[in-house]
Amino acid sequence: MQLIFMGPPGAGKGTQAQLLAALWKIPHISTGDILRACVVAKTALGLQAKAYMDAGELVPDQLLMDIIQERMDQPDATAGWILDGFPRTVAQAAFFDTLLCDIGTGGKSGKDCDIRAVNLDVPDNVLVTRLLSRGRQDDNEETIRRRLQVYREQTEPLIEFYSDREQLVAVDGDRDMELVTAELQQALSGDS
Ligand code: ADP
Repeated sequence: MQLIFMGPPGAGKGTQAQLLAALWKIPHISTGDILRACVVAKTALGLQAKAYMDAGELVPDQLLMDIIQERMDQPDATAGWILDGFPRTVAQAAFFDTLLCDIGTGGKSGKDCDIRAVNLDVPDNVLVTRLLSRGRQDDNEETIRRRLQVYREQTEPLIEFYSDREQLVAVDGDRDMELVTAELQQALSGDS
């Protein structure tokens, strides 16, 4: 099971990814969580990333590529994973294809292997309300607006990227959490 969870900030990808990863006993790899841990630990990477995150901007691709490369090398990542928050740009997605090819998913690149990209769709007004009530460090109104804009400009093109390859699974995320989980389970089980 190799899954990429996409969707705008506040769509609920983190919640769903965590739930399903526990159920399927595969790691939930959230680049947002990894970055926040680096910020707290004040590592060189964390210090570099913090200003971007606080401003609602994307952290530079190269830093994310290094993070993902290292994470995918860990022994728990061989059987499968749910990626949450990566890739977020077309450059990251292209890099990830090459990485999958290199680490040997049977010699196949991302284009030919069994990854599925899940998009959770939620309207902007719902997202803003959800994020404001969550109250994370980067969840103030100005940053939220910027994150949504960055999402539309840089991440949304990935929907077409994966849909062109018939790897896209689109799910309506504007419903009760349990219903979304059930639909995801139904749409994704059968893959292994
Ligand atoms: P969100 O709730 O906005 O989806 P995340 O926890 O996924 O939050 O990410 C928080 C922040 O971390 C992003 O706004 C961005 O600055 C940074 N970040 C996370 N993943 C990536 C990525 N793949 N590329 C660039 N920046 C990232």
